Amino acid sequence: MIHSKYTIRENNEANILNAIISQKEISRAELSVHIGLNKASVSAITKKLLDDELIHEDRIGDAARIGGRKPIMLTFNGKAALTLSLDVAPNYIEGLIAYIDGKVLYETEIRGIKVSSDNVLAYIAEMVEKLTRHAEETPHGIIGICVAIHGLVNQDTILFTPYYTLPSDLKAQLEEIYPFYIHLENEANLAGLGEYTFGAASDSIVSLSIHTGIGAGIVENGKLRTGKKGAAGEIGHSILFPDGRKCPCGNEGCLEQYASHQAIYNELEQALALPDINSSVVIERYKKDDPIVQKALRTNAHYLSIAVNNLAVIYEPDLVVINSSIYSQLPELISILKGDLKGKFSCETKVANSSLKKKATLFGGVAKSTQNFLNIQNLKMNAES
Ligand SMILES: [Zn+2]
Repeated sequence: MIHSKYTIRENNEANILNAIISQKEISRAELSVHIGLNKASVSAITKKLLDDELIHEDRIGDAARIGGRKPIMLTFNGKAALTLSLDVAPNYIEGLIAYIDGKVLYETEIRGIKVSSDNVLAYIAEMVEKLTRHAEETPHGIIGICVAIHGLVNQDTILFTPYYTLPSDLKAQLEEIYPFYIHLENEANLAGLGEYTFGAASDSIVSLSIHTGIGAGIVENGKLRTGKKGAAGEIGHSILFPDGRKCPCGNEGCLEQYASHQAIYNELEQALALPDINSSVVIERYKKDDPIVQKALRTNAHYLSIAVNNLAVIYEPDLVVINSSIYSQLPELISILKGDLKGKFSCETKVANSSLKKKATLFGGVAKSTQNFLNIQNLKMNAES
């Protein structure tokens, strides 16, 4: 395989940039030691990064840190570019525009809709127009749009969306319209990536997203484990009850037919004889000690504990993060779930609500575009919102 000089320089450039980001501030001499590159190369690369406005010379450091002259400290310019991040679900679209350091400029949502192949481009256009109105001037402008898809995505191609229809070549269609890098990724994968990059300090994370379906984003050192065709982490289609309820995937008895939010809503609509149950109704009734809702959510926590047990014995992650609009409001459900982890191999698994609240997927989109722009995979930053 031929590696060009350009590729090698780019890798060194990315390594230096990542060291500046992770150390918060660092001198050229410290960079040289940290990266193992000679000082002339470090100077040449940092000059290019300064010219590109990706880093700043912020202040004079302390001479005692490394000896000799007082060094000039280098810091990352997290405001060098902007990203757009969209979460396109079957019945809503959320979006935000953020700097590459995760600082959000504006976020909005379109709710009460039914997304399909026929209208998805129009909804995305509406969202992009709303977001770009809030763009600020930056050296590199908008460096990418990332679109979260609630279904199976393999290398930017949509393969299977069980609860709505989308064109498999959505990326190509978007590329004809927008002059930015376009990324498509499964929403649970992005939630995991968002959590890794902007949330938890852990190096190996499984993020369990519970919405219409259930998916897991598996991230190790910034790399998503997607499998050969993108189906790794489709934990919603692990079988909870053999010969149980039919699932659009073709199986019977899949976890998400019993433990997704939609499954809870369907069950409660029947049990309470009420139409249009949503997470607000569920949370309110749970807090008012409605016995039917309390039982349904306890059962849900038990089912999810089985999913967490299965993930723990397969991946042994540092942390399992729960992304759910219900669990984020009712943290005691996390305690119930943990209490049901009784197995020797799963009882010590750390389980927590996402620190990014409802925004893990959108932050994952920011992370995806920024990883690509900076050529840094194990990118970790502190989110501000
Ligand atoms: Zn299934």
